[in-house]
Amino acid sequence: MKPFVYNGLPSRVIFGQGSLDQLGREIDLLGATRALVLATPQQRAQADALAASLGSRAAGVYAEAVMHVPVETARAAREFAARIGADCAIALGGGSTTGLGKAIALETSLPIIAIPTTYAGSEMTPIYGLTEAGVKRTGRDLRVLPKTVIYDPALTTTLPRALSLTSGINAIAHAAEGLYAQDANPIVSLMAEEGIRALGAGLPRVMQDPADQEARAECLYGAWLCGSVLGSVGMALHHKLCHTLGGTFDLPHAEAHTIVLAHVLAYNRDAAPVAMKRIARALHADDAAQAVFDLARDNGAPTALKDIGLKADDLDVALTLALKNPYWNPRPVEREPLRVLLENAFEGRRPT
Ligand code: NAD
Repeated sequence: MKPFVYNGLPSRVIFGQGSLDQLGREIDLLGATRALVLATPQQRAQADALAASLGSRAAGVYAEAVMHVPVETARAAREFAARIGADCAIALGGGSTTGLGKAIALETSLPIIAIPTTYAGSEMTPIYGLTEAGVKRTGRDLRVLPKTVIYDPALTTTLPRALSLTSGINAIAHAAEGLYAQDANPIVSLMAEEGIRALGAGLPRVMQDPADQEARAECLYGAWLCGSVLGSVGMALHHKLCHTLGGTFDLPHAEAHTIVLAHVLAYNRDAAPVAMKRIARALHADDAAQAVFDLARDNGAPTALKDIGLKADDLDVALTLALKNPYWNPRPVEREPLRVLLENAFEGRRPT
């Protein structure tokens, strides 16, 4: 066995149907008494109801979270938290809301209780992102890692079908790249394969019946594992490409991940055979790239970057940006094969 380093991240996870009922106790366990509830404007009603259920433990609701955490939103949220004397933040929502909690914690060390309602996985990572003048910078800092995560599958039944699928494949991308990461290790790889398996099994069932609680639980369990992988080991070409596509062309985050992943797996196929075997095994298929493509296409996800807002003229810019400061990748990142990858993803072709 190859020597390896494993970093365990400190977080407490409460998982299961109805676990939201334990939020009050979890606030008490943190020693907090004045919780700030964070959400997006779309989830304001849910945030207000949560705050009402907390009674005097809730100090206020800030429902202004948006994608990619603009610095102005982060500053306004920090000021709001200070004004109401918050001593913990409750992030109710997806990666955008958790991201806002992280931006507050980065400067104030305010403890976060995350209550994820998508499969993005941010709640399990010490990674934060902040966008200033259109440029997103990311970093790692343990202060932003949520102290407690409450996974209640009941909260995900309202996640629309399309977003459930793309968010789930976004999670699979974390695990897939974790399996061939430069700092991959056997423990994280166990979580990665099991996370892909759970999502591969759960997502088609959620697509058939979004109210299926068992399928929702399986997907959320998978998302937790995949998020843990993202928090533990480095990511590669896929995440670099999606970061570029999302940041520069403002493509929707989960959709971009869903389209690009199969193509990156095809690109890396021969350079990471063990990882590919594990991804394929988790999806009960022969080939990792084809299996991810089929999971997306068969369940109705977009398969072409041109269908989610990328223009043909953008491809050259994307290529140049992706080649600039590339992340480590098992196969060298070279202009010509990368151009083919991007063109295939643009047109929605089956990965070759
Ligand atoms: P999101 O948080 O932007 O949510 C998308 C929309 O769905 C929002 O309007 C939200 O209110 C709504 N929504 C969420 N859950 C819902 C539910 N259960 N029912 C109905 N509507 C619901 O999307 P996301 O994909 O979760 O997060 C994307 C963001 O997270 C990106 O900015 C990405 O960069 C970031 N991210 C960060 C990390 C990290 O480790 N730092 C990891 C993954 C994603």
